[in-house]
Amino acid sequence: MNAIIFGAPGSGKGTYASRLKTKLEIEVISMGDIFRDIMKKETDFGKKVKKYVEKGQLVPDEMVISVLKKNLTQIPSGKGVILDGYPRTIPQAETLQEIANIDVILLQNVPDWIIIERLSSRRICINCSEVYNIRFLKPKIENVQRPDDTAEVIKERIQLYQKMTSPIIDYYKEKNTPFVISEITSLNTPPEQIVEKILEELKILNLT
Ligand code: ADP
Repeated sequence: MNAIIFGAPGSGKGTYASRLKTKLEIEVISMGDIFRDIMKKETDFGKKVKKYVEKGQLVPDEMVISVLKKNLTQIPSGKGVILDGYPRTIPQAETLQEIANIDVILLQNVPDWIIIERLSSRRICINCSEVYNIRFLKPKIENVQRPDDTAEVIKERIQLYQKMTSPIIDYYKEKNTPFVISEITSLNTPPEQIVEKILEELKILNLT
């Protein structure tokens, strides 16, 4: 099964994807994580990526697409993948269409107030990149705020998400790709509950 997990920044998509990875023995390609690794390396490419990410802007398509292709070729054949953070533009979706078949879209619907609340309290372990939250999952070890989790950049990322969402959703609706939609309405819904529901619906769709 190849899936795209789609949702606003802070919708929890990274958390759900990593849990689905274990349950379904599937690979996850997280564009945000890959770019954060690339930025650490201080190469020319890394410095270029950083210019966009730190402002909450999209990295240009040709750069994103080259990174995607490189990562897709590393997946053993026959193994499925969940794409997190890709595609974010129509050209990215069109390129993907040429190289992989997408069986399902996992869409997380989350109201803005939850997004803002979650992102401003999100913290990342400086050693292993594990995600914590100073309100719900208190980090015991040294942690930092993601540089793009500041109020100004959060606003930028939410606006960008809203602008790019509908064309991509329409793109997959036109292709009749099935959707599994999670409606998240409370700050405290445990991730397990959401993941279990996604798994149930994937079963109904005969995808697991
Ligand atoms: P978010 O938490 O906002 O969903 P991610 O961790 O997925 O963010 O990505 C962080 C940043 O990396 C984005 O704000 C953007 O600058 C860049 N990025 C990630 N994926 C893409 C993509 N597919 N196209 C363009 N830029 C991307």
